[in-house]
Amino acid sequence: MSYLKDLDYSVMQQCIHCGMCLPTCPTYMETKIERNSPRGRIALMRAIADGQLEAKKAFADEMYFCLGCLACETACPAGVDYTQLFEMARAEAERSHALSSRTRRLLRWVVLDGLFHKQWRLRWVGRLLWLYQMLGVQALVRRSGLLRKLPESWRALEAKTPTIQRRFSPDLIAPGEIATTVTKAGSARPAYRVGLLTGCIQDLVYSDVNRDTADVLLANGCTVITPPAQGCCGSLHAHNGEYEMAKSFARRLLDQFDLEQLDAIITNAAGCGSHLKHFDRLLQDDPRYAARAAQWSAKVKDISEWLVEIGFRAPEKHGTETGVTYHDACHLCHGQKITAQPREILAKIPGLRIAPLTESMWCCGSAGIYNLIQPEMADKLLQRKLDHIAATGATVVATGNPGCMLQISNGLAARGAKIEVVHPVTLLARAYRAG
Ligand code: SF4
Ligand code: SF4
Repeated sequence: MSYLKDLDYSVMQQCIHCGMCLPTCPTYMETKIERNSPRGRIALMRAIADGQLEAKKAFADEMYFCLGCLACETACPAGVDYTQLFEMARAEAERSHALSSRTRRLLRWVVLDGLFHKQWRLRWVGRLLWLYQMLGVQALVRRSGLLRKLPESWRALEAKTPTIQRRFSPDLIAPGEIATTVTKAGSARPAYRVGLLTGCIQDLVYSDVNRDTADVLLANGCTVITPPAQGCCGSLHAHNGEYEMAKSFARRLLDQFDLEQLDAIITNAAGCGSHLKHFDRLLQDDPRYAARAAQWSAKVKDISEWLVEIGFRAPEKHGTETGVTYHDACHLCHGQKITAQPREILAKIPGLRIAPLTESMWCCGSAGIYNLIQPEMADKLLQRKLDHIAATGATVVATGNPGCMLQISNGLAARGAKIEVVHPVTLLARAYRAG
């Protein structure tokens, strides 16, 4: 079996080698090496599909040097489906075991197969981490100098440990919360009924954003259905070569929601959203799930997309004047082509002064787990992003993806910058509460 050879060859042929994508590709712009560009990578993939190249280490390394940011897809005049190519290429790299080592296999098994397989396992680890942080052990260890004995890569990893929330989504959001506001004229019932996705890491690190999302939905006439045992959607797996595992995660998520009863499925995590919208393609060959996956893909909406679609209510009360800048998460702007809606939400919040961000659509280096596996390139992109943020003079950065929020927060903290990083929906929820 070969993922690239089995892929519809027309997808491989879409690239016309024009090079329009090159200036938008962060890795190419850093190295100026053709192999590190979208065009170069597609040429490698096609060589494998044509049987002219084998998926050896050099190929696999290149696929993991790609951010998967999809900026090339936005720039491409030929409509190259880089999302699919990227996922198949990484799956091919894993199938070939070109990067295989005992440590790598163990790590992937523990994280992708073990931890992310069951949300209770992730929550259990989250609880331990929360205790470690809350009891001050983390701060003590950091002050003690113990970390200096670790290899540099481990120290860098430790510095990226996210702060875990005291309570996770099921403690904050009831499985069914009924909107009390009625927005459809003449109706006695809430206008919409939506499913809310609470995510995996999002549930541990940003469960407060999930609560804000539910509040904003309720304030706009949406009854919110939130199954407590959701777990990971599999985007991490699809983007890291575990295509079959991604399929099983998608099936499990589909089983959690009664799609017939819902107007939309809401996500507030851009990286998940762009994957969730492709469940139709992921499960197209599965006779049991194909139809439901197609229905699912049609109903998945990013929170900003949904709010604008239903004509969300603008908050009334004028808060303290705050300078805010907006960073486009790659999988929102390139993966889902959503750029105007989050800006429209911010523009309607009284008291916010929006400062445009230079290169707002340039990747911040988070890119799933890219900042863990390619720390050098990720840091270059982060520093570039932080310089642009500093130049805006804003005291708040809004962005719609937990990975970007973590990456930018960590970068700002390392610089000692007093800038808050929030999800746009949090700003809207705060404005509603203030009113
Ligand atoms: S996904 Fe991003 S890093 Fe990868 S080739 Fe496209 S633009 Fe470059
Ligand atoms: S812009 Fe599209 S068609 Fe042109 S080289 Fe890049 S991927 Fe190929």
